[in-house]
Amino acid sequence: MITTEEVLKIFEESGALLKGHFRLTSGRHSNRYMQCAKVLQYPQHAGRLGEELAQAWKNQGIDVVIGPAMGGIIVAHEVGRALGAKVLFTERENGAMTLRRGFELSPGQKVLVVEDVITTGGSVKEVIEVVRKLGAEPVGVGVLVDRSGGTIDFGIPHVSLLKLEIESFDPEACPLCEEGIPAIKPGSRSI
Ligand SMILES: [Zn+2]
Repeated sequence: MITTEEVLKIFEESGALLKGHFRLTSGRHSNRYMQCAKVLQYPQHAGRLGEELAQAWKNQGIDVVIGPAMGGIIVAHEVGRALGAKVLFTERENGAMTLRRGFELSPGQKVLVVEDVITTGGSVKEVIEVVRKLGAEPVGVGVLVDRSGGTIDFGIPHVSLLKLEIESFDPEACPLCEEGIPAIKPGSRSI
């Protein structure tokens, strides 16, 4: 199994995990910033992480790997490749998580639900419900990065490659502001 240090190294080298002084969309400040999509820019990283995430579910007869669009699509694809399983993704239609595009699940199929990052786990819980409604069996959850602080219970086994808690500060009480370091808005083209 890949170590936490190896996962962190992959995220840092691909620019998915930045260190600095950031102004978040919430208005709070932080000293780290994660944009998981940046690690999935690189097929070799996506493949490696998918292979590692699949380890926990090898030889368990997983028929289908499913993830919520957008973040879950590439992860599902790579985990599905590693498990030799079919891959689907869910999308929102009028706010409700659903299977579109003629994708189908059959009653009794064993389904692994995957996602790139979870904070509240809301999307993953909705995907689990979609799977159940179609009569298939959600047998586990696999995520690249768990930012929940270990607070989520999906009611089924759940594995993550990286547990990451990013501390954030009220700008009025931000230690980096106090040091006079300028805060940047991550993802903006002009800083
Ligand atoms: Zn600050």
